[in-house]
Amino acid sequence: MSARHPLPAAQHPIVARFLTDGVAVNEATGRFGSPLHVVFPQVMAENAAALTAVLRRHGVPHDVFYAHKVNASTALLAEAYAAGLGADVASSAELDRALAAGFAPDRIEATGPKSPAFIERIAALGVTANADDLWELDRLAAAAPVGSSVPVLLRLSGFASSVVPQSRFGIDLADADAALEIVRRAPGLDLRGVAFHLDTADPAARVDALTESMAVVAAAHRAGLRPSVIDIGGGLRQRFVDDPEPFQRYAQALAVAGPEDLVWPGHDLVAPTAHKYGNHRPATDVLEGFLTAEIERRPVAEVLRECMLTLWIEPGKALVDHGGLTLATVLYRKNAAGRDLAVLDLTRNQVTPADQEVLLDPVLVDGRGDPPDDGVFLAGRLCLESDLISRRKVFLDSELASGDVLAFVNTAAYQMDLSASAAAGHPPPPKVAAVLDGDRFIVTDDASDDRHRS
Ligand SMILES: *Cc1c(COP(=O)(O)O)cnc(C)c1O
Repeated sequence: MSARHPLPAAQHPIVARFLTDGVAVNEATGRFGSPLHVVFPQVMAENAAALTAVLRRHGVPHDVFYAHKVNASTALLAEAYAAGLGADVASSAELDRALAAGFAPDRIEATGPKSPAFIERIAALGVTANADDLWELDRLAAAAPVGSSVPVLLRLSGFASSVVPQSRFGIDLADADAALEIVRRAPGLDLRGVAFHLDTADPAARVDALTESMAVVAAAHRAGLRPSVIDIGGGLRQRFVDDPEPFQRYAQALAVAGPEDLVWPGHDLVAPTAHKYGNHRPATDVLEGFLTAEIERRPVAEVLRECMLTLWIEPGKALVDHGGLTLATVLYRKNAAGRDLAVLDLTRNQVTPADQEVLLDPVLVDGRGDPPDDGVFLAGRLCLESDLISRRKVFLDSELASGDVLAFVNTAAYQMDLSASAAAGHPPPPKVAAVLDGDRFIVTDDASDDRHRS
């Protein structure tokens, strides 16, 4: 037996309310089954309002594009549209969904590596192409209809600053002049600006990338082009916990005692994931930190205003932070490998981001009684040793039994469908949207059109 090391997840008030509303949870699993993904569009609306409020407060001309790849939900995409955001799509299928949700082509931006067919569609519709490579630019130039002005951003990488993380995406700065030349010679392309995307909370990294990107904007102007947009991508953080303390204590316990008792045999927990889940600062702080950071003693916001640049951001996880949870049912408990194990009707890849360990305790819905002395490991339903939902021993508020429902909190960002499979014929969990209407939740199929919205 180990000392208790609970890692409680922060809960948005709407989510907390849903989880204590036994009727809502029962109705959802009763109608749609278990396991089940639940999204909360109202939380996303709040996140969008909070981020745009920061941009507005700093007087920076801006636009916000929702990075759709974070969650395939139709309800969340519809909420992004209702909130007046643009859509950042990463495939032809995502483009279809954005158009179906009502986004006009000039409110859509396409990022990531693109196939020739995707490029043809982008050019024909006049969707903004965030170009990943010179090859894409050449293709776009060829595909742009005569007399059109297909908006283009150059996604840049290969920054000289050592604090900017290396990336496999984007056009290396060494090729920026060649990229500008392709756009300059293409009658159908219109250089709207330059872009980058860094997955970091470090303001210094974004400021350095911004400074180097602005040099490309200046070069473009010298070449007779008129870019006016700097797109700094996403990478704003999620706020996983209210209090970082338990996390620090857990990391210490791991470092001192080793994973022995806290982690399933044969597995290790790595520090970067720990760092991510230990975060208690909201995305608005990261954005604020960037806008108030200084370039030659002047705040970024002021520099952007003076250079008459429009700031684009493409948040994914920050927009859906706390905007979803995943419900699963305990099939049975057993003793295995000398440890206490609960087997769930869920599969690891249906609730983990790119197979990373989720370092937060799930919540036992309608749990009663005292916290058990020891923790429990959580297993999935696949016939694979690796299908452990939690390789880390989790510590719950009350004892688990067959038939209990566990809620994995804050799973909307990348945890629902980015790496989900239908292995062994278990389909990915269905998805529903829960909207708080007065004092009760209205739960509908995620794809349904007749959703009530506040
Ligand atoms: C994935 C992605 C985003 C969203 O990133 P988050 O970290 O979820 O905010 C934004 N822009 C690009 C180009 C991306 O690939």
